[in-house]
Amino acid sequence: MARYISFLRPDGTASFGRIEGDAVADLGTAGTSAYLKDALDGDLAALPATTTYAYADVKLLPVIPNPSKILCVGLNYATHVAETGRDQLAYPAIFTRWADSLVAHGEPMVRPPETTRFDYEGELAVIIGKGGRRISRETALEHVAGYAVFHDGSVRDWQRHNIQFTPGKTFPATAGFGPALVTPDELPDLAEQRVQTRLNGQLVQDQPVSDLIFDIATVIAYCSTFAPLSPGDVIATGTPGGVGDKRNPPLYMKGGDVCEISIGKVGTLVNPIIDEVI
Ligand code: MG
Repeated sequence: MARYISFLRPDGTASFGRIEGDAVADLGTAGTSAYLKDALDGDLAALPATTTYAYADVKLLPVIPNPSKILCVGLNYATHVAETGRDQLAYPAIFTRWADSLVAHGEPMVRPPETTRFDYEGELAVIIGKGGRRISRETALEHVAGYAVFHDGSVRDWQRHNIQFTPGKTFPATAGFGPALVTPDELPDLAEQRVQTRLNGQLVQDQPVSDLIFDIATVIAYCSTFAPLSPGDVIATGTPGGVGDKRNPPLYMKGGDVCEISIGKVGTLVNPIIDEVI
């Protein structure tokens, strides 16, 4: 029952810890980099703190800075399927990201110069605890270490160059991921939490997690069939309707903007936007 973060210590080594009020209990070994994903299939609650920092004094990393896989579900809310003009799919639409596309809560998301169509997508992320292959729907939630807020920032023109999504979904530093992993026991009413995206304070997406077309257990079962899942793997579950690309007039992110995604008890992820200068 807790919230866990990944962070850099003052000496620059990476670690992970448990939030305890205004403090962070460091659960790694002092002086040595340690990663949350390597502890997720054990008993996190039993790990002793090696030291404690003020939360304000640590530099947050993405919740899982180095997942072996980042899988993303497209078209998983009916409102978003409708605004894209597509038919509802019989199977989840899955695309991938690389780890270097992730940034922490508070860190800037970067609009590359190759686009004027950098778009927001607020999402719930699932973080795998116990790995597995061909996981059944019935046991899928036993494989979840926790949940976090995810911003699947999308370069729409590169997403639409042809029939696959990946180039528009994995430019460096285009996805916010944080601030913390929240364990499932803190979220008995997860389905009722609302995914709310605000761009410069304007509410642009607002739907409950219960509106997912393919629910979390279904997505884990589907993905684990073709991709063995490991501790720390991330599945972003899809975005509700209201994306900027389908508005009239369109609404895109640019340098100087701030995007905030709240999912109730899961937390609030804030990222400023900057323009990459080359
Ligand atoms: Mg998405």
